[in-house]
Amino acid sequence: MNLGLGLDDRGVGILPGMTGFAVVICGAGIAGIEGLLRLRRLAGQQVDVTLLSPDDHLVYRPLATLEPFAAGAVRRYPVEQIAADAGVHWVRDALAWVDRHQRVVHTVGGQELPYDALLLAVGGRELSSLEHTDVFTVRDAEGTYGTVLAAVDAGDIGTLAFILPDGPTWPLPLYELALLTAQHAHNGNRRLEIAFVTAEPRPLHAFGGDAGEAMTRLLQRAGITLYTDSGGDIPEAGHLILRPSGRELHPDRIVTLPVITGPNIRGIPGFALDRFLHVDEFCRVRDTDGHIFAAGDSTDLPVKQGGVGAQQADTAAAGIAHLAGAAGAPKPLRPVIRGMLLTGTKPLYLAAHLIAGRGWMAQIFDEPPWSVDEKIVAEELAPYLDRFESSGPQGPTG
Ligand SMILES: Cc1cc2nc3c(=O)[nH]c(=O)nc-3n(C[C@H](O)[C@H](O)[C@H](O)COP(=O)(O)OP(=O)(O)OC[C@H]3O[C@@H](n4cnc5c(N)ncnc54)[C@H](O)[C@@H]3O)c2cc1C
Repeated sequence: MNLGLGLDDRGVGILPGMTGFAVVICGAGIAGIEGLLRLRRLAGQQVDVTLLSPDDHLVYRPLATLEPFAAGAVRRYPVEQIAADAGVHWVRDALAWVDRHQRVVHTVGGQELPYDALLLAVGGRELSSLEHTDVFTVRDAEGTYGTVLAAVDAGDIGTLAFILPDGPTWPLPLYELALLTAQHAHNGNRRLEIAFVTAEPRPLHAFGGDAGEAMTRLLQRAGITLYTDSGGDIPEAGHLILRPSGRELHPDRIVTLPVITGPNIRGIPGFALDRFLHVDEFCRVRDTDGHIFAAGDSTDLPVKQGGVGAQQADTAAAGIAHLAGAAGAPKPLRPVIRGMLLTGTKPLYLAAHLIAGRGWMAQIFDEPPWSVDEKIVAEELAPYLDRFESSGPQGPTG
């Protein structure tokens, strides 16, 4: 089934009002909306953009760690409003598969969306990594971690372990949870021993040297015992065996994060093993015709971070604008990791260049060195959401 509208020269449906270079963006998350806004800036009305996403809201996750402490909340922004502001057509459906030869996106609902350029920004998939743990998820931050905090407050928990799963994940939030919990227990005069277990040789390894030292100091100051170069086996609840040392811990609760795996999109080449989309330095999906781009957690970049995903989206948007004849040749991606760490007291700001999958030249700041004080540093999205916050329900252009 297609939308039953016009047919283009490939015999597939054309959406009303479409005249120019057709761009389909799959995903209305951080990378998808950053890419959309950047493309509008670069190509204006020279591109007809269709936004394909099943969810009603852009979910801004960074404040999830504050939610159980009643100090902040996950923010949600209506996709309908964003699409209207950007002047694009939103198809509330999900990507099913891509016909690369016809250049058509097929949706789960049976629609066919032709494209001249395609941006895949569908995020990663979360998998529970370890048994007998409390897995912190954004979908239910209060539910998953609120019970742990309630037990701390009731004095039912004396020891707590955090274990960073082996494999792609978002490390920053787990460090934040550990620090915020230590501060919370301290404020409530609760005695709580906290251990933090990570396979990294030093904390926040992806950021590089100085960030690790800063985090080690913060953990020490908070009284948290750090185990680096360590994995963990959990044969039963409350029993954690560290690898390779064999040391045994008996925490009352063990908290972890999901691991992230790729979206494994039918029609797009990639490795069956990790299912991530493999991209080149222009954020084009490898082994395709140069018209398919990807950005964000769904790609094979080893650091999963909204700010880095946004930079990928900007690079992809520049490539698409170039294909549309609206801009010059794009520059290759030279990602910089920028992070704001919630510590329980004053936040810390971290920046590092990401080279060959690792952070280099890390810098630590007490004040935000970038213009908008947002947790996800995205050149288009951050100021847009800032205006959204200050303009009330009718949105930034209302
Ligand atoms: C607790 C927590 C705290 C974090 N803190 C920070 C932080 O401080 N700073 C930072 O930079 N990053 C942070 N991150 C990471 C950041 O949230 C992610 O890296 C970022 O959201 C990834 O963006 P994305 O666009 O790739 O995916 P997402 O934001 O997950 O968006 C994916 C989009 O794709 C859509 N979608 C899914 N399947 C389909 C489909 N089949 N078809 C069409 N659309 C589809 C979804 O509905 C969604 O709109 C944090 C993450 C967590 C969990």
